[in-house]
Amino acid sequence: MAASLALPQVTASAGHRFEFDLIVVGAGIMGSCAAHAAASRGARALLLERFDLLHHRGSSHGESRIIRDAYAKARYLPMVRLARRLWADAEAECGYRVLTPAPHLSMGPRSNASLVAAVENAGAEEMDLALRWGGAFRVPDGWLTAVSEHGGGVLSATKAVAMFQALAVKKGAAVRDNAEVVSIEKGPEGGVVVKTSSGEEFHGAKCVVTVGAWASKLLRSVAGVELPIQPMHTLTLYWRIKPGCERNLTAKAGFPTFSSYGDPPVYGTPSLELPGLIKISCDGGPPCDPDGRDWVSGDREVTERVARWIEESMAGHVEAAGGPVIRQSCMCSMTPDADFVIDFLGGDFGEDVVVGAGFSGHGFKMGPAVGRFLAEMAIDGKANTAVEAGVELGHYRINRFAGNPMGNAKDY
Ligand SMILES: Cc1cc2nc3c(=O)[nH]c(=O)nc-3n(C[C@H](O)[C@H](O)[C@H](O)COP(=O)(O)OP(=O)(O)OC[C@H]3O[C@@H](n4cnc5c(N)ncnc54)[C@H](O)[C@@H]3O)c2cc1C
Repeated sequence: MAASLALPQVTASAGHRFEFDLIVVGAGIMGSCAAHAAASRGARALLLERFDLLHHRGSSHGESRIIRDAYAKARYLPMVRLARRLWADAEAECGYRVLTPAPHLSMGPRSNASLVAAVENAGAEEMDLALRWGGAFRVPDGWLTAVSEHGGGVLSATKAVAMFQALAVKKGAAVRDNAEVVSIEKGPEGGVVVKTSSGEEFHGAKCVVTVGAWASKLLRSVAGVELPIQPMHTLTLYWRIKPGCERNLTAKAGFPTFSSYGDPPVYGTPSLELPGLIKISCDGGPPCDPDGRDWVSGDREVTERVARWIEESMAGHVEAAGGPVIRQSCMCSMTPDADFVIDFLGGDFGEDVVVGAGFSGHGFKMGPAVGRFLAEMAIDGKANTAVEAGVELGHYRINRFAGNPMGNAKDY
């Protein structure tokens, strides 16, 4: 893919002070969507990625991500709704699907306030699990179990990132892989100068930084800005479905994505991308340095916790005894309040550099919406689409941490 997306010769042309209207640093889901949003409105966009495109060292790779309305924080609902519309638009534009619809099951103790709020916000209906999906789930007596029938589903992650990159190129964006950005400076005539480790230099009117788990490191080194974003090593696990149950647990049969708010906090997706297997994993993991991961810390503990949960909750349908069939590593970028960072970098850069980071393990579904916001903030100075959709971006500012290390978490 890299070679086919080579950088075209672009130079500052008559009427343009800079080579690019927008330089996007980092080609995960957020950067790819931002480049697509910018190019779609005619901006000359450049997307720079440190590794190969679609690599497995960040946060956006893999087979699946959940999209759901069941959010405890109601402020995310308008963003999910907008994102869903933009996912559909992109699918229509490229001609293939990356979203497979599925209901979403939320379950956990009734005393869990986040669960109750998520169920209410999603308008999910309480349901007796014994009557659904062949009794695949067994939960403790008294648990709240509720299903949102519509609006949720499974996103094919890597395929979706590729889709936005390809659409961005189709709209005229330049995409360059193996281009590690090491410096972002103010340009001598305004704008920004972005330099890579191989000595290349690009001049842009504006810059969007979407470097995932590298956000704190890069912004500290290029701008001296401290962002409280902690990269975390996480695991995706696939388990074998017991013989005879394979069909019941498929997306085609209406099996749901699910979140269990008990201990451990487990989530899963219907059998889809790997027939005969089902993805069931656990939130959380140890903190890590994105450049110095050992790729295994904490894996045994997480695997054992998920295996125990399967034994207790899905033993009739999923085989836990032999361990997971497939393990994939990933990173989450956690903020102290688990809210995103979507803001101008400020300081010397003012509104020339926009940051999208800290997506705290729940950003993928929002990619097309966040990408649109970032591109609009950079180009127009304001995310009009957010205003129209009722998304209040004030919650995602960097200054919420000023003198308040917990940010929005103080509200809860
Ligand atoms: C196991 C797991 C399960 C998840 N499940 C869900 C889910 O079900 N639903 C959901 O909505 N979300 C989910 N998420 C969260 C979601 O995947 C992330 O929020 C999202 O992928 C973050 O995307 P990003 O573009 O910010 O980061 P990334 O995908 O990491 O992209 C950042 C890119 O920047 C590049 N980069 C870094 N430094 C530089 C540099 N100096 N120069 C150039 N490029 C650079 C990196 O190489 C990388 O490609 C999950 C995450 C994980 C790990």
